[in-house]
Amino acid sequence: MSCNGCRVLRRGCSDECILRPCLEWIESPQAQAQATLFVSKFFGRSDLMSLVAAVPHSQRSVLFQSLLFEACGRKVNPVNGAVGLLITGNWHICRAAVETVLAGGVITPISPPDGVVKCMETEASEISEESPESGESDKEPKLLNLFS
Ligand SMILES: [Zn+2]
Repeated sequence: MSCNGCRVLRRGCSDECILRPCLEWIESPQAQAQATLFVSKFFGRSDLMSLVAAVPHSQRSVLFQSLLFEACGRKVNPVNGAVGLLITGNWHICRAAVETVLAGGVITPISPPDGVVKCMETEASEISEESPESGESDKEPKLLNLFS
């Protein structure tokens, strides 16, 4: 059976499919399809495939997750992207954007620089109320340490 990535990109799927392991961390088939579409549109389908093919099978899930955050971060924060959101303490905006994409929503650039944090904070807090995620607090400090 075709994986949800190939299905949405209308490409042939197989047991050796390189997209399949990319999507394992995403629970719902619909969200897997949304994520694939978004990342594929952002990086371009053939570039996405090259990026995925270049890393070992075991790292494809992490790579895809990273690409999704990068794409979402760039979309909502065109100038500084995901890294900009991270170092300014606005990582929750990036996470909210990813959640929105996974849910099939549309994300648009945040307006600079004031109203931004305001309007996105509401969205982010709504999301964290819906799904209190465990383990996230462990991950963030590690990411932040990269920039300290
Ligand atoms: Zn596939």
